[in-house]
Amino acid sequence: MKIIVTGGAGFIGSHVVDRYIREGHDVVVVDNLATGRVENINEEATFHKIDIRDEKLREIFRDEKPDAVNHHAAQIDVRKAVSDPAYDAGVNILGTLNLLEACRELQVKKFIYISTGGAVYGDMNRLPVTEDGVIAPISPYGITKHTVEHYLYAYRANFGLDYTVLRYPNVYGPRQDPHGEAGVVAIFSLQMLSGAQSTIFGDGSKTRDYLYVGDVVEANCLALKRGDGEIFNLGWSREVSDFEIFDAVRKAVGADVEPKYGPFRTGELMRSCLDASRARDGLGWEPRVPLDEGVRLAVEFYRKKVASGDPG
Ligand code: NAD
Repeated sequence: MKIIVTGGAGFIGSHVVDRYIREGHDVVVVDNLATGRVENINEEATFHKIDIRDEKLREIFRDEKPDAVNHHAAQIDVRKAVSDPAYDAGVNILGTLNLLEACRELQVKKFIYISTGGAVYGDMNRLPVTEDGVIAPISPYGITKHTVEHYLYAYRANFGLDYTVLRYPNVYGPRQDPHGEAGVVAIFSLQMLSGAQSTIFGDGSKTRDYLYVGDVVEANCLALKRGDGEIFNLGWSREVSDFEIFDAVRKAVGADVEPKYGPFRTGELMRSCLDASRARDGLGWEPRVPLDEGVRLAVEFYRKKVASGDPG
């Protein structure tokens, strides 16, 4: 199958590319390197450095004639989305519409869209939240990511474009950018490996559902063949506190350190955790890599990075 992977130079997209290539697919990466890195791009993939908002994207689709599109490219910075919501909407909504129009013209068979379970649901009183939970994003990023889900529904109804939406929890693993908001495993790892003290914002009790990138990749493989017209949460259905994640990294690094505590950051949910039962039934997916093992794999990656003099 020929698959265009947008954001294939980024953290998660590049792992999806590696796996698709291992499975024998012909992969084309579309990325403007806004946050992605050339060294993440698999050498066997064809690479087009282009913004998904660019009208020349249509020419790439005409040349490549993909069977499927896996859409990971996005403006993912929640703070940037708050300070510049028009930019966020430009990339996440208009950029995606540019892709969808190209899919319509080329009659692409399948569109895998990456949404977020961490930012589309409202404050989560009843956890773990299912796909039917109340949609009430408190960030422009959550709004734009969710808006595309409506367009997909319409494109399927009007033009027969099959899609699967994957709503990710907090994803972690090798290649994650430590400068990103969600990259707490990367941030703590690099801080501890370089002897710096880590700060937990709040009292350490805020929770998230952490999923290893390899498990996310598996869902992207299954979604090539299953889950048409469906939205799936991914996750462990388990809340992991900020302190627990700090402690998991501390153990993997082998550091004897304590965190500093800073003020709570406004606009952040106190708790988050996703019920992924629908993905188990509809995709045949379930998470496999436990937190300790995933954190160990991530820390090994950052250990090598630090040893090679790359600060991240
Ligand atoms: P990332 O920043 O590593 O990857 C995003 C990629 O998109 C980068 O390679 C970047 O260069 C590219 N990109 C950005 N704007 C672009 C544009 N205008 N045109 C072309 N390419 C562009 O981030 P990631 O963590 O790998 O996130 C991948 C996807 O997963 C995103 O859609 C994000 O919303 C979603 N997601 C991530 C998490 C997480 O925990 N990391 C959680 C929920 C959802």
